[in-house]
Amino acid sequence: VSQRPPHYLDELNEVQRQAATATEGPVLVIAGPGSGKTRVLTYRIAHLIEKGTAPWEILALTFTNKSAREMKERIVKVVGQKASDIWAGTFHSLFARILRVEAKHIGYPSNFTIYDTDDTKSLINSIIKELNLDKTVYQANAIKNRISSAKSSLITPKLYMNNAELLTQDKQAKMPLVHKIYAAYVSRCKKAGAMDFDDLLYRLFELLQNHPDVAKKYRRKFKYVLVDEFQDTNTLQYAIVKKLVLYPKSPRNICVVGDDAQSIYAFRGATIQNILDFERDFADHGIQTFKLEQNYRSTEHIVQAANAVISHNRRQIQKNIWSHKGEGQKIKIIREMDDTGEGRRVADTIVEQKSRYHLKNEDIAILYRTNAQSRIFEEYLRKFNLPYRVYGGLSFYQRKEVKDLVAYLRLVVNPNDEEAFRRSINNPKRGIGGTSLEKVASLAGQQGITLFEALKHVALPKRTRHAADGFIELITKARAKADTANAYELAETVARKSGLLDNLRKDVSIEGMARLENFQALLDGIKSFVEEDTLIDTDTLPDKTLASYLQNIALLTDFDSNEEKNNTDVITLMSVHAAKGLEFKSVFVVGLEKELFPSFMSMGTIEGMDEERRLFYVAITRAEQFLTLSYANTRYRYGKMKMNEPSVFLTEIPAEAVENTSYSRRSEKSEYDPLERQRAKVSGIVPIRKRGTAKFTKPKMDPSKFKPNPPAEIEEGQNVMHLKFGEGRVVKIDGGADNRIATIHFSGLAQPEKRIMLRFAKLQVL
Ligand code: ATP
Ligand code: MG
Repeated sequence: VSQRPPHYLDELNEVQRQAATATEGPVLVIAGPGSGKTRVLTYRIAHLIEKGTAPWEILALTFTNKSAREMKERIVKVVGQKASDIWAGTFHSLFARILRVEAKHIGYPSNFTIYDTDDTKSLINSIIKELNLDKTVYQANAIKNRISSAKSSLITPKLYMNNAELLTQDKQAKMPLVHKIYAAYVSRCKKAGAMDFDDLLYRLFELLQNHPDVAKKYRRKFKYVLVDEFQDTNTLQYAIVKKLVLYPKSPRNICVVGDDAQSIYAFRGATIQNILDFERDFADHGIQTFKLEQNYRSTEHIVQAANAVISHNRRQIQKNIWSHKGEGQKIKIIREMDDTGEGRRVADTIVEQKSRYHLKNEDIAILYRTNAQSRIFEEYLRKFNLPYRVYGGLSFYQRKEVKDLVAYLRLVVNPNDEEAFRRSINNPKRGIGGTSLEKVASLAGQQGITLFEALKHVALPKRTRHAADGFIELITKARAKADTANAYELAETVARKSGLLDNLRKDVSIEGMARLENFQALLDGIKSFVEEDTLIDTDTLPDKTLASYLQNIALLTDFDSNEEKNNTDVITLMSVHAAKGLEFKSVFVVGLEKELFPSFMSMGTIEGMDEERRLFYVAITRAEQFLTLSYANTRYRYGKMKMNEPSVFLTEIPAEAVENTSYSRRSEKSEYDPLERQRAKVSGIVPIRKRGTAKFTKPKMDPSKFKPNPPAEIEEGQNVMHLKFGEGRVVKIDGGADNRIATIHFSGLAQPEKRIMLRFAKLQVL
């Protein structure tokens, strides 16, 4: 039976269809997650093309290039290949494209380069040097942020120089000459034919402002302008959009879609004010507003939970979201004793879901608040042979700051490691530059010795010699302890003495803090490697040296083969920020603990908490069928075992929407994880809930009150306390001196008997 293919507009509901076909004049769609906003934009474009609009007359601004690509693919399916000529992409990518064509008007070559953050910083640093300013006072990162926000507010160097408020701020920050650096920076960029990310917006605005003919050209060209995720556009982006649309006699065919409840970029200057501004700016131009209320993405429990969570925020545009997809699965909450357990349990659950519901890897996402949290999940996915990709960033062990420290540690274990030597010798900068390194390399070549050996003997200018000696001493001293010392303490010393840690601490920008967090997460990982794995169920003692740690992670990192890169059926790991607009059958939102999510940085203010809650709202509304929320009672943070209370957001989820596992004790050993046999641990006992909101028990003991005794003091017959396993009785001790192993009976555990290596274990005698 041949069936007429459905007309594309039949794939929209009534209101969606109205919004998609109201092509002329300004249109605003403010609606909740999963209600088809992006779908409306997509079909609107298809409709425009069907009605005869040329694809290149359509400008569609999306949040990621990925979503632009998906949009195009969908449109091509409806109207054919010609749709690939539409201008769809992010603000930055499309604006760069316009700037390439029009570069000559603003004194740039059309092949201008785009400076990334590192380029920007190194240029700022060289300007600081040229101006003979003190680099320890004038910090590149801080200055970069100042310049960036000046540009975003359309403040030129000239305006900056005359802006009393900014100058006062700079004086207070002890950097009165920022304006000079800014001026030099702008002229140097221009001379170099380079634009930084901010310039792509700033310069375009300038172009449209100062060259009415160019502005007119693009106003004529783009007959239809569409913006997705409008709630997260910043003032400058909106100003540019207005330049392209809002002008006497311009067509003003603009459609913006967004959700005020999903506004999550306040820290980048996005405000919901834009939505209000839009209504005001286009009020006189026959603005049409549409409300979409049906959620097509998620099943009812998930929608119910999302509605309940967001109702805790104060100001928002009233929306009533409902789903017809059936009740679906209830939300699962996983509680684990520690972050390692959380990682394993999430991987476990993924395996289970895959086999039970026939999910593909690409149906699954793990979302976290900060990128530094990815480490533990990456480790377990690798152990379980589950392919994954970290989006919006590098996988943990590929991150620069992580590799920097790992290079030092490798050098400590093996001073002959050339690659590690080259990476570390002048990082952080200690004045051993290219020329010195060449000398070292050539001496090494002549004498047939390693670079590290050659560094000891090569002739160098006095200051460089001094720096080299410091480096040699650091590595040699650490080397001498490497076989016996606690890997964590050693790594921590190297992190400090190398200067890597201080270097990162200086950077207080958002990216800088993220780097510091990654660096700390690596150290925390080493700490749990040392301290957690004290359980023994074989006759061999665990090897806790740095060498053993490095071997462990080398196996984990030797993974990025091409095969994996081309594989599209992978599990997605990403920050919640990056997940905006996306959807997955199964979503895990992890690390739901007080001070982690909501982030400790936002907890002081109501605005901060509201933004975190919107972020959580975005996270849970990515799920179509399965939503799993997880948290750990303890985790290492900044080198200290931290006991965590569950996130307040968990308590905002109605109990009816949560899986009713009033008492679910899982087997301590993972069925899927033979490598982890020795890591047997107690896992989630989800407390019984009353009706109302979910309740959570507090962990047993506050780690700040916990005072472990030195290992030598532990004896048979004692009652002891372990931070994670609770109270226990020492049944037996065998092995001598450094290798004493205690067999302890922990009464609260399903498998009470544990063998623990005393050298690493923390036990308090009761
Ligand atoms: P977000 O706020 O998260 O960006 P959104 O409002 O943009 O969400 P979409 O991504 O457009 O929502 O739609 C969510 C899901 O629902 C998509 O899979 C989409 O294809 C589907 N969908 C939307 N409208 C309909 C419809 N009328 N019929 C069938 N499926 C639909
Ligand atoms: Mg969308």
